[in-house]
Amino acid sequence: MKLTVLGSGTILSKERSTAAFLLENGSSKMLIDFGLGNLRQLQKVVDPLEIFSLFLTHLHPDHSLDLVSLLAFKKHSKIFKQGIEKRQFHLFGPSGVKEFYASIVKAFPFIERLDFDVSIKELSLSKIDFFGFNVKSRPVRHSVPALAYRIEHCGKSVVFSGDTRYCEEIKSISENADLLVLECSLPDKMQGFEHLTPKECSLIVAQAKPKKVLLTHFYPMVNPLKAKREVEKAFSGEVIVAEDLMELKI
Ligand SMILES: [Zn+2]
Ligand SMILES: [Zn+2]
Repeated sequence: MKLTVLGSGTILSKERSTAAFLLENGSSKMLIDFGLGNLRQLQKVVDPLEIFSLFLTHLHPDHSLDLVSLLAFKKHSKIFKQGIEKRQFHLFGPSGVKEFYASIVKAFPFIERLDFDVSIKELSLSKIDFFGFNVKSRPVRHSVPALAYRIEHCGKSVVFSGDTRYCEEIKSISENADLLVLECSLPDKMQGFEHLTPKECSLIVAQAKPKKVLLTHFYPMVNPLKAKREVEKAFSGEVIVAEDLMELKI
């Protein structure tokens, strides 16, 4: 699998785009989260017309807002180009994603007039096979319903924490993963704000023992390099600081 970090920041970040990842398995591509600003990031890497699926970890705008932009891109491309594939678009997310979609259709009526179908599925503790990817989801603890995903292909696994507080669920879904994409939003002095801090990330990786960890979702208050050093103390595997447009092979 190939992972591209589209955005490693948050809503407050000046230098980093909000949360979004592109995962490819040779024949298929999927997005995991697609916060505001990420349609532009995606265009630097692939043609957005090649994207037919989005797995949302939760519905906060720094993870979901550019879904509207992506649908608008597909709609407008069809006006200007011939022969574009009318493939169904698949949207997955935690409970509430159907209502979320209905509300964006209400706000942006063009979405009702797309010439391709959009299928929407709410996931919880779920397991699905999807275009060569095996996707497991598990609810984690955040201020709204939120999922972590474990995605496997050809014996390799990558886990996306989404946004989460320190909890057992993120540890168990991350066990022995080849790569753990772990939010590390806040400094240790801000522990308890619905997000992970470097100290909590250390505890998670020490127990879950992934092969590699990619720290991401940095608010400006956290120093990514200091966070990396802190996590390295608890972990013998490789600790990587996510940067926008970084590519990793899994
Ligand atoms: Zn977030
Ligand atoms: Zn959030």
